[in-house]
Amino acid sequence: MKTSLKIAGLKASVADATILRGIDLELKQGQMVVIMGPNGSGKSTLAKALTGHPEYTVKGSVKLNGKELLGLAPDERAKAGLFLAFQYPVEIPGVKVLNFLWTVYTQQHPERTRRIHPSIVDFRDWLVGKANELGIPDSLLMRGLNEGFSGGEKKRLEILQMAVMQPKFAILDETDSGLDIDAIKTVAEGVNKIQRETDMGVIVITHYQRILQYLKFDIVHVMVNGRIIKSGGPELVEELEQRGYGEIRG
Ligand code: ADP
Ligand code: MG
Repeated sequence: MKTSLKIAGLKASVADATILRGIDLELKQGQMVVIMGPNGSGKSTLAKALTGHPEYTVKGSVKLNGKELLGLAPDERAKAGLFLAFQYPVEIPGVKVLNFLWTVYTQQHPERTRRIHPSIVDFRDWLVGKANELGIPDSLLMRGLNEGFSGGEKKRLEILQMAVMQPKFAILDETDSGLDIDAIKTVAEGVNKIQRETDMGVIVITHYQRILQYLKFDIVHVMVNGRIIKSGGPELVEELEQRGYGEIRG
């Protein structure tokens, strides 16, 4: 049986304001679900609640393969197999992207003899190939982590980090922001490929429809005011495009 991520009755509040009002969502490894919704509907709050951002008071249940994640620290959730791209948004001048990702990789695979890439040289060869698939030039891997990176470069590196970590489930919050049309296509195709290769489950959060034409997703959930008000297949995206969020209710 495939590993599942099961969110039930998830509520989140911050500074006395209730933002998520009971979210139910389930996905299995190998599936891609999309969450769409207008600005301020609670999409990023959902991402942060799932990965354990300290600012939010969260109730309900989030189970990965039956294990309750709520109450666990962010790094414990990551160890359980949940990846959120913005877990490492920090700039670390002086630490090169390559070295940072190598550290991430060796932490996950401490035993050298059991690694696919035993040394940093093997790892670099693989990483350069993956990076190029995502439109990341080799030179970026030699720069300080996030040091002066553009929004688009950061987004591409998040996906590269995901390829290194190979989580069971990944949450991509507005991966398309800051990317131009060509870059969106490259990154979306990269996500499709990584998903195929690793059989991970992906939650894609987006405000715009444009990335969805390139992604191989299974289902769309529409979030408005902290609730999922409608779910459907790719045809629901068409409907949203034509009618807007205002008319999609119930
Ligand atoms: P989305 O990602 O869908 O645009 P968010 O989850 O970022 O929405 O925000 C949902 C709502 O929660 C917004 O109204 C936002 O102003 C509010 N919110 C988010 N973070 C905080 C905070 N730290 N304090 C108060 N309100 C917040
Ligand atoms: Mg957001």
